[in-house]
Amino acid sequence: MNISQKVKQTLSRIKINKKDKVLVALSGGKDSTVVAYVLKKFGYNNLEAIHIDLKMGDYSEKCLNATKQLCKQLGIKLYVYDIRKEMGNSMCNIRLNVQSKKSLKNCAICGVIKKWILNKEARRLKADYIATGHHLDDETQTFMLNILKGSPELSNNTGLITRNLPDKKFIPRIKPLFFILEKDIKEYAIKNKLPVVYEKCPCAIDSYRIQIREFMRSLSDKQKENLMKNFMKIQGKIKKQDKTMNYCEICGEPARGKICKMCELVKK
Ligand code: AMP
Ligand code: ZN
Repeated sequence: MNISQKVKQTLSRIKINKKDKVLVALSGGKDSTVVAYVLKKFGYNNLEAIHIDLKMGDYSEKCLNATKQLCKQLGIKLYVYDIRKEMGNSMCNIRLNVQSKKSLKNCAICGVIKKWILNKEARRLKADYIATGHHLDDETQTFMLNILKGSPELSNNTGLITRNLPDKKFIPRIKPLFFILEKDIKEYAIKNKLPVVYEKCPCAIDSYRIQIREFMRSLSDKQKENLMKNFMKIQGKIKKQDKTMNYCEICGEPARGKICKMCELVKK
């Protein structure tokens, strides 16, 4: 099965309607670029995109330009969230402030902040779904990471669609590339000459995920696919997380506890 067929199958499993409004979280990298490209190709015409401009110098500028070029090419509306304007600082400075109080890795902090922004903005833009570029390699890494951290139940929230708990303030996130290997996405992006920034984020250093990624490089494609298939088989059997969803006492966004993960990092 080629990449288009696999994505088509995944989309039919997610059961989104072509009329639903899908907001693609576009980073400028190959994965989310391919998501926007295939969704458009398959006739999802209620499609828009959002790019979070992290204001990390030259790298961010290249990412912003790539997303603008893609959206122009596909004829989709692009929203740019300027982190400096909206949150008062670049991602590097926000992260350094957090790290002066807490010992957390770069990617962990950036990930929490990006999710918070995406949910809030998707709600503001009245999107039915947020589509991200997560692929098979990302998902198997997350699964392994959760097991190695001793919290396999965290994987219960992941899957083709992340709904956490049905909640009016939480916009479900979908992953059209869930069953696609990273190397196939790269090949597809190159073949279709998509405007993509291939260099890695300069701040993605020293994360636990990178360690796992290195280890998982030793697995064959088949082994990665099997890992994911088996994960999906046992997923429902892992202890479920607490069923309640609250709203953060500081920012009002969905939260598991009294305060959301983002406010725990930034505002405390
Ligand atoms: P990452 O955690 O950086 O691997 O990104 C995972 C997914 O989040 C990407 O495939 C994108 O869909 C989305 N994403 C990452 N960075 C950005 C960004 N700067 N703006 C919008 N979406 C992003
Ligand atoms: Zn909050």
